[in-house]
Amino acid sequence: MIKYALICDQGHTFESWFSNAEGYETQVKRGFVECPTCQSKQVTKALMAPSVSTSRQKERIKAQTASIMAAEMNAPPAPAPAPDPQPMALLDEGQQAMRAMVRELHRKMTENSTDVGDRFASEARDMQSGDAPTRPIHGRASLEDAKALLEEGIALMPLPTLPDEQN
Ligand SMILES: [Zn+2]
Repeated sequence: MIKYALICDQGHTFESWFSNAEGYETQVKRGFVECPTCQSKQVTKALMAPSVSTSRQKERIKAQTASIMAAEMNAPPAPAPAPDPQPMALLDEGQQAMRAMVRELHRKMTENSTDVGDRFASEARDMQSGDAPTRPIHGRASLEDAKALLEEGIALMPLPTLPDEQN
């Protein structure tokens, strides 16, 4: 069985059951289907409710698309493309100031301090235990060494990396 939404030539809508699509065609052609309101036999399949809403949705989408297109047409012209990236050597003032600050910080942290290189951790421990004269030192330590030294109560802080060393 199949249910069709039907509409007569007077615009009355109603529903009727048929055995199948062919049954519908046959019964309508033979005048077996009539409008329950006006008994007209000029009956055709009406648009199903979902179809109606679908076509309404399509219209709505069409309207939205049209307004989007209008909005795009009214949008200001795209800004001119940015100039080519500047070479790294040409730093703006902010970047130059930052580099100067890092260099100054690095200089202050290392001036009057002895570079012990990779022996930083053992030197620091010797100083802590009194086996080496206490003096400012700097050098390299692994992250694990640095953590261990901090846990042992040895004050240390990482040196800032010089910008030139990153390049
Ligand atoms: Zn009718």
